[in-house]
Amino acid sequence: MEFRYRSWHGMDAEDAASKLSVDPSRGLEGDEVERRRKQVGANTLPEAVRRSSFKVFLEQFQSPLIYILFIAAIFAFALARHGDAIVILAVVFINSLIGWLQEGKAERSMEELRRLAVLRVRVFRGGMELDIEASELVPGDIILLAAGDGVGADARLLEATALEAAEAALTGESLPVAKSVRTLPPDTLLADRSNMVWSGTHITSGRCRALVVGTGQETEVGKIVQMSEAAETPKTPLELRIAQFGRYLVAGAIALFVAVMAFGLLRGMDTAEIFMVAISQMVSMVPEGLPVAVTIALSVGMQRMAKQGAIVRRLAAVETLGSTSIICSDKTGTLTSNQMTVTAIWLPGGRQIEVSGAGYKPKGALVEDGGKLAAETDDGLRPLIRTGALCNDAHLVPPDHEDQRWHALGDPTEAALLTLASKACVDSPQTLRAWKRLAELPFDPDAGMMATTHLDPEGVSHVLLKGAPESIIECCSQANFNGRYLELDDNGRNAALNAAEELAGRALRVLALAEIRGTSLESGAGLEGLGREAVLLGLVGMMDPPRKEVSSSIDKCRQAGMRTVMVTGDHKSTGLAIARLLSIARSGDRAVDGRELELMPEQELRSDIDNVAVFARVHPAQKLRIVEAFQSRGEVVAMTGDGVNDAPALSRADVGVAMGITGTEAAKSAADIVITDDNFATIVRAVKEGRLVHRNLSKVILYLFATSMAEIAVLLTALILGYPLPLAAVQILWINIVTEGTVTVNLVMEPPEGDEMNLRPVSLSEPLLSRSVLRRVILMTPVMALSTFGYFAWRIAEGVPYAQVQTETFTVLAACQWFNVLNCRSATRSALRFDLFRNPWMMGGLALSILLQLLVIYWPVLN
Ligand code: ADP
Ligand code: MG
Repeated sequence: MEFRYRSWHGMDAEDAASKLSVDPSRGLEGDEVERRRKQVGANTLPEAVRRSSFKVFLEQFQSPLIYILFIAAIFAFALARHGDAIVILAVVFINSLIGWLQEGKAERSMEELRRLAVLRVRVFRGGMELDIEASELVPGDIILLAAGDGVGADARLLEATALEAAEAALTGESLPVAKSVRTLPPDTLLADRSNMVWSGTHITSGRCRALVVGTGQETEVGKIVQMSEAAETPKTPLELRIAQFGRYLVAGAIALFVAVMAFGLLRGMDTAEIFMVAISQMVSMVPEGLPVAVTIALSVGMQRMAKQGAIVRRLAAVETLGSTSIICSDKTGTLTSNQMTVTAIWLPGGRQIEVSGAGYKPKGALVEDGGKLAAETDDGLRPLIRTGALCNDAHLVPPDHEDQRWHALGDPTEAALLTLASKACVDSPQTLRAWKRLAELPFDPDAGMMATTHLDPEGVSHVLLKGAPESIIECCSQANFNGRYLELDDNGRNAALNAAEELAGRALRVLALAEIRGTSLESGAGLEGLGREAVLLGLVGMMDPPRKEVSSSIDKCRQAGMRTVMVTGDHKSTGLAIARLLSIARSGDRAVDGRELELMPEQELRSDIDNVAVFARVHPAQKLRIVEAFQSRGEVVAMTGDGVNDAPALSRADVGVAMGITGTEAAKSAADIVITDDNFATIVRAVKEGRLVHRNLSKVILYLFATSMAEIAVLLTALILGYPLPLAAVQILWINIVTEGTVTVNLVMEPPEGDEMNLRPVSLSEPLLSRSVLRRVILMTPVMALSTFGYFAWRIAEGVPYAQVQTETFTVLAACQWFNVLNCRSATRSALRFDLFRNPWMMGGLALSILLQLLVIYWPVLN
C-alpha cells in the first residue's frame, strides 16, 4: 500500500478511502491497525534533537569564572607555583563535574514531563467510536474532529460542517481557514488545500470526519521538524534577573581584586602571593552555584507541580505562579464538579415540575404539585424533553465493571438532558433515531446556543434550538401551552425571563428549548439566519454541585493574600449563587454580566474591579479585558480557560491555565500550565509549589552571599590588621567551589515549611537581595568572620606553626559554611531547632562535603 502518496487533495474522498483500503462507514478493523502500525511506525515526531551530554559538559567551561581560573592557573605556572596551578585545575574540573551532573538531572526530568501532555483523538474503528492517543493513529484511520480539537495527523476530509482550522503553526496564516470536502486540482499549494487538515494544527469551529493519510514523519509538520534544529528553551525572567545580578557581582569582584592588589603591594607583600589571594577573593564573590541552582529549582518545582496534577508548559510559569495575586476561575468543571442533573422544569403558562434522582443514572420521577407526571402523554412536556434529547451530541454510558456509575461522554449539560429523557420515558431510542438529523450548528459560546435540523417521521423538517434563556427567548414569537402554539407577547416573554431568573437564583444552570417547524438551517446563514419565528418549549434547570475541596481552597487563597474571581459564561444569578456558596462572593461583592461590562468605561472597570467577585455571561473576548484591567492595577493574574476563544486571554494572563479534561487543544497550546483534573484546588496547590521555589532560591542567595561576605571580611581584617594571610589562595578556592558546590543546590530541594500559604504573594519586582535577606546577611557575616578570624589570631598568638594554623582556619571556615547552610534552611528558625533529616539531599551534600574536606587535609597529594 502506498503511504507516501502526496496528492490526496486531488482525488475524491471515496477514491482516497479506497486507495487506503478502508470502508468509511466502519473504519479500520483491529488487526489491520496493527499491521499498518508495524509498517509505518508510531505517529510521533522525532524527539527534539537532544543536546549531547558531552556538549552540556563543555558548556560548563564557558562561564567567566572558569576563564578567570584558567588565567590564574597560567600565572601560577609562570610564577613556578605548580602545586597551586594543579589545585586550581582540579577545582575547575570538580566544579564543572558537579554542575554537569546536576543540570543533566534537571534536563531529564523536564523531558519526562513534556511527554505527559499527550494529544487524544476520537477515532472510528470497526464501526465503533474510540478515544485513543494520537500516537496510535495509522493511515486509513477515520478521525472525528470538532471545534477545539487538535489534529493528530494529516487527513483528507470526508465530511465537514462549517469547518474552520487554525494553521498558523504550519503555514503562518493567523486567521482560521475555511475547509470543505471539495476535490481540488492536484497542483494546489499546501496552504490552499482546503479539503485537508494537518497534524499540529487545530479546529476552531465546526466538525468533520476525516481520513488519515499521513502520520509521524510523513506529515507536513513532520517534514518541517526534520529540517529544523530544536529551538533552545528561552530563559525565564528569573534566570535573566539572576544573570544580571551575577554581572553586578562580577563587577564588584573585579573592584575587590584591584583593591586587594593595591593594598597588598602597598604593604610590600610578595607579588605572587597577593596576586593569588586577590584572584581567590574575586572568585569567592562570584556566585558560581547560582545559575545551576536556579535551573534545578525551577525544574524541581515543575516536577512537584506535576505530582499535584499541574503540567507546566512554560518554565517561567513556575516562578510566576508563586507571585499570583488574582485567580480568575471558570465555574463549570473547575469550581463545580460538572456533573449536571436536571432538577427543575418550567413550562410556558407557569407549570413547574421537579425532577428527582441524582447523577446520570436514568432513574427518577417528574413531579408536579406533589403528583407524579406521565410525561409521555403530556403535550406540554413531551416536545421539550424530546428537543433536549435530539439537539444533543452527548452519549450516556451505562455502568460496567470498570465504572460502577452511569457517566457522560461529551458535554455534561447535554448528557443531563438525555438522562432527563430516559427518566420521562418520552420516546424510545428507536423513535428518536427516526428523527434523522440533517444539519447542525454546534454550540457557539458567543451566541449562547446551538441548533439542529431534523426530519420527523412524517417527513416534516424542524429546527431545534437550545441555549441561554435570553438568547432563545429573543428568537421566539410563540410558545407551547400544553400542545397549543400561542403567541408569546411581552408579558409572556417577561414571565419566562423571570422564571429563568428564579431558577438561576437557586444556583441552577438554566437552558431554554425551542423549535421552528417546517424549516431548516440555511447553510452559511448561521444562528442569525433563524429569525424570530421560534416556539418556546420551556426551561430546564440543572444542578451542578460545587467540588468538595474548592471551598477550603478558596479560604486558603484568601489567607495567602490571593483573591478568587469567578468568570463564567453562565447566568449572573447562577454564578452569584454558586459564588456565595463557595464564599468567593461576600457581602458587598458584586456580579457584573457581559452586557454591563460592555457598557462600562475602562476607567470605571479599573477602579471598581476590586469589588467584583463574579463576571457572568462573558464572551471569551471580554476575558481579555478583565485580565488587562487587573494587570493595570499591578496584579499578577492567573486565568483559566478551556475553549478555542479563550486562547487570547490565556496568553495575555501572567499565568494561563488550561483545563486538561474539558480543555481544547487550542486552549492548551496557549496556556502556561495545564491542570490535569480541571480542579480549582489543583491551581492552588501549584501556587504553593511556586512559592516554595521562590523561597528556596532566596535561601540559596542568602547562603551564597553570606559566606562570600564572611570570607572577604576575614581576609580584609587580616590584611588591615597586618596579620599574615589566614587562608592560602587555593584554600579559598576550595571553600568556594567544592564546599559550596556540594551543598548549595541541596537548599533548593528543601521541603515546604508549612507556612507558604500564610504569606502575601512575593512581588515579581522584588530584588533578589531582598531586605530580609540583607538583614540576615548583616547578622550572619560578623559571626562567621569573627569566629574564623578570632580562631586564627588565637592560634598564631599561641605560637603554632603558620602552615598548620592556616589548615585549621581553613577547616573552621568550612565548618562555618556547613553550619551556615543549615541555618539558611529556614527563614525563621535556626539550624539547631529543626529536624536535620527532612531533606535527605542536604544530608548527602553535607556528608560529601565533609568527606572531601577530610580528604584534602589528610591526603598528602592534595595537601
Ligand atoms: P460556564 O462558564 O459555566 O462554563 P458556558 O460558557 O459553558 O458556561 O455556558 C454558558 C451558557 O451557555 C450556559 O449557561 C447555557 O445556558 C448555555 N449552554 C452551555 N452549554 C450549552 C450547550 N451544549 N447547548 C446549548 N446551550 C449551552
Ligand atoms: Mg464552559
